[in-house]
Amino acid sequence: MYTEVIKMPEIPHDQLNQNLVDLLNEWKQQKVWRGTIEERKQKFMWIHEHMKILFNKPDLQLVFGEITEETERIPGSSGTSFYDPVHNLIKINGKLSVITFLHEWGHALGMSQAETVDWSWLHFKTCFPVSASRLEQSIGTMFVKKPRM
Ligand SMILES: [Zn+2]
Repeated sequence: MYTEVIKMPEIPHDQLNQNLVDLLNEWKQQKVWRGTIEERKQKFMWIHEHMKILFNKPDLQLVFGEITEETERIPGSSGTSFYDPVHNLIKINGKLSVITFLHEWGHALGMSQAETVDWSWLHFKTCFPVSASRLEQSIGTMFVKKPRM
């Protein structure tokens, strides 16, 4: 039996991916921070579905843990979000955070912690400069404080 091994092209963590930039800019027009939690979850599903196509990850799932108006107000509440390679899923907890979502996607693309911190922040600040500067000011260098993974 012949099995073809398809190797994913390595995605550089320190370079902008223009296709992703274009996609995030299109997503941005949906006003990703506006709406109810259910409405915003739908917006995250939209970008997730498009990123699955872009990065050829058709089976990668996006699921949500407990996210309420209350948990969203807790600083760093998305910090328990994770990528689970065994079940091939990204789980977002606490807060619908764009930077956390991108961070976990970086892990799904095979990046280490340091690599995806760079990669997610690079794309976040490029596509959402106002939010990125606000986040930087409010939390300083701790903007991607994550206890695990
Ligand atoms: Zn991480």
